[in-house]
Amino acid sequence: RKGAETMQFQAEVNRLMDILINSLYSNKDIFLRELISNAADALDKIRFLALTDKSQLGDTEESQALGIRIWVDEERRVLSIRDSGVGMTRQDLVNNLGTVARSGTSAFLEQAQRGGDLSLIGQFGVGFYSVYLVADYVEVVTKHNNDSQWVWESRASGDYALSADEDGPQLGRGTQINIHLKPACEEYARPDKLRELVQRYSEFISFPISLQVEKTVTKEVPLDDDSPAPDSKDADDKDADVVDEDEEEAKEKTKTVTEKVKEWEVLNDAQALWLRAPGDVTDEDYDKFFQVLSKGQSNPLAHTHFRAEGDVEFKAILYVPRTPPPDMYQDYYSRKPSLKLYVRRVFISDTFEDLLPKWLSFLVGLVDSDSMPLNVSREMLQLHEGLKVIKKKLVRKALDMIRRLSDDERSAVKELAELGPAPEDEGEAAAARRAELTAARDKYPAFWKAFHKAVKMGVIEEKAHRKRMLPLLRFPTSSSNGSDTTLDEYLARMKEGQKHIYYHIGMSKEEVEKSPFVETLVARGYEVVYLSDPLDEYMMGHLNEYDGHDFVNVAKDDLRLPEDADAKEAEKKEEFKPLTRWWKKLLVLGQPVERVRISQRLTSRPCVVMANKFGWSAQMERLSMTQAL
Ligand code: ADP
Ligand code: MG
Repeated sequence: RKGAETMQFQAEVNRLMDILINSLYSNKDIFLRELISNAADALDKIRFLALTDKSQLGDTEESQALGIRIWVDEERRVLSIRDSGVGMTRQDLVNNLGTVARSGTSAFLEQAQRGGDLSLIGQFGVGFYSVYLVADYVEVVTKHNNDSQWVWESRASGDYALSADEDGPQLGRGTQINIHLKPACEEYARPDKLRELVQRYSEFISFPISLQVEKTVTKEVPLDDDSPAPDSKDADDKDADVVDEDEEEAKEKTKTVTEKVKEWEVLNDAQALWLRAPGDVTDEDYDKFFQVLSKGQSNPLAHTHFRAEGDVEFKAILYVPRTPPPDMYQDYYSRKPSLKLYVRRVFISDTFEDLLPKWLSFLVGLVDSDSMPLNVSREMLQLHEGLKVIKKKLVRKALDMIRRLSDDERSAVKELAELGPAPEDEGEAAAARRAELTAARDKYPAFWKAFHKAVKMGVIEEKAHRKRMLPLLRFPTSSSNGSDTTLDEYLARMKEGQKHIYYHIGMSKEEVEKSPFVETLVARGYEVVYLSDPLDEYMMGHLNEYDGHDFVNVAKDDLRLPEDADAKEAEKKEEFKPLTRWWKKLLVLGQPVERVRISQRLTSRPCVVMANKFGWSAQMERLSMTQAL
C-alpha cells in the first residue's frame, strides 16, 4: 500500500502469532467467536459514548444502526466482518494490534507452546490474533470518530503496516476486517459454515449479526422484451373459461429465469437473554450465553437467573465456571470481577470493582440495573449507593447457588448409596435417574477442587455470611476413607460425650495422618479433620465454632479430652515436676524450651515438640495468605 509505515510487533505478539499461524490446532472455529466478540465490545463502547453525546452515532441511517455484518468472496477466499462500533484511531491500532497490554500472555504462550487449549485465547486478552489460525493475511480497516480512516495489515511475519486510507471506501465509523484465508481453511468462506458457527458461538450476542447469502430466485419474465406480458388479473374477466384461456396464452409469452440475488440474513435475535423469564430459557440457552460471556469456556457448573425488586431493581445471571480465571490467585487482591454491568440494556463496564467481593470474583455473569442513572460517568456510577444493595443481593444469590450444588451433591451421594450398584436389568427410567444423580454428585467436587481457596478466603473475609459458608467446606478426616466430608456429617458421627470438632494441620495429608496427636485421638475413637492446604491455617484462625461446637486444634498445648479428669492431671503434674524442671533447663535445638507439660495425649511416643501459639500481626497474615494462595 502506498505510503504505508512498517512497524514491528512486540516480541510476545510475534511469538504468539508464530504459534498460531503454524498451529495444527483443530478447533480453528474459535477465531470467529473472538472477532464477533470484539465487534460486540466495540458496539457496546459506542453505545455507551452515545449516552452522553448523541452526535457520536453520526447522522446517517447506516452509522446509527448498531450491528455486525459478515460476507464472503468465495473465489478469492476472503471473509469480511464489519461492525459499526467505536472503531480505532491510529494510536489504538498500534496499542491494541501490535502489543499486548494485559499480563498473563506469557502464561498463555507457554501453555500454547506445549500444545494446550488455544480456545482459551480470549480469556488472556489476545483473542484478536486467533484470526491467524485461519488467515495468512489480514487487513483491518477502521474509522474512529476522532481520527481519519486507517488500515492495519499483516502477514504475521514479524511486522505490520499502517496506512491512512483516503482512497478506499469510507466506513463512516467502525471496523472492517478482511481475512484472507489459508488454502486449508477455505471452508470459512462458505456461508453455511459461518451460519452454523454464529449460531453455535454467538447466538446471544446482543447486536444483530447478519450474513450475506446468495439466494436463487425464479422469476417469470416476458419472452419478448418489447411486448409486455398480458396482465392476467384483468378486472373485467368474469368468465372462468376465458380466464383459463388467458393464462395459457400468458405462459406462452413468458419464460422462467433463475437469478442470484444477495440478501442479508439475520442470524440471531439479538434479544437480551436476561430479559426473558427464567422459565422460558432452556439450559442449552444458558450454556450458550455463558460461552459468549466467558469467551468460550466449557459449560458452567451452575447458574442462577433472577430479578431483584425493591429500591434497586435489577436482573442478573450468574454462572459458576468450571475453572478459575487464569489470574484468580496470582492477583487475588487486585483483580476485578468478570461481571458485566448494564444499565437499562446499555453495557456500562465489566471492570466494576464493587459488584462482587474478591472471593467471588471467579463468577461469570451480568447485572442489568433498572434504577441507576444512565447519563453519568462510570466514576459517578461506581459511587452510586445502589451498587451496595446489588452487591449484597448478588452475594446472597451466589451463595444460594453454590449451596444448592453442595446440597445436591450430598443428597445424590446418599441416594446412590441406597440404590447400590446398578443391577444388570436396570430399567431405562432407573438408569436415567442414576445418571442424573451421578452428574449431581460430581459437580460439587469439581467446584471444590477449582475454588476451595476462594471459598476459604470467603470464610475469612466474609464475616456476615460465614455461617452460611461453613457447610460448603469439605475435608478428609480420619474416618472418611480418603474422601471428603462436611462439618454436618462430622457432627452426626461424633462420639458420645464429644463436644468439640478436632482438627490437625500439616504440610500434607500424609503428614497429618501420621501425626502422634492424631494417633492418640483416633485411638480413643475421635474423628479428626485433616487440614493440609496452606490456607487452612489462616482460615481456622478465624473460626471458633460450628453449630455450637468449638474447633479444637489437636496440636494445641491446651488440648484436653472429655475423659481427662482434672484431678488426675494435677496429681501427675506434681509427680513429674522434677522431670519437667530438668527438661526446661535443657537446651533443645540450641534454644531453651518455653514450657514443658505433662500430657495424656500420647500413645506410642514418649514426647513431642510443639510450636507455641503466638498470633501473627494482621498485615503479616495478609502477606502470607497471598503466598498460600
Ligand atoms: P480483548 O478483546 O480481550 O481486549 P483482543 O485481542 O480480542 O483482546 O482485542 C484487542 C483489542 O483490540 C481490543 O481490546 C480492542 O481495543 C481492539 N479491537 C479489536 N477488535 C476491534 C474492533 N472490531 N473494533 C474496535 N476495537 C477492536
Ligand atoms: Mg477480544
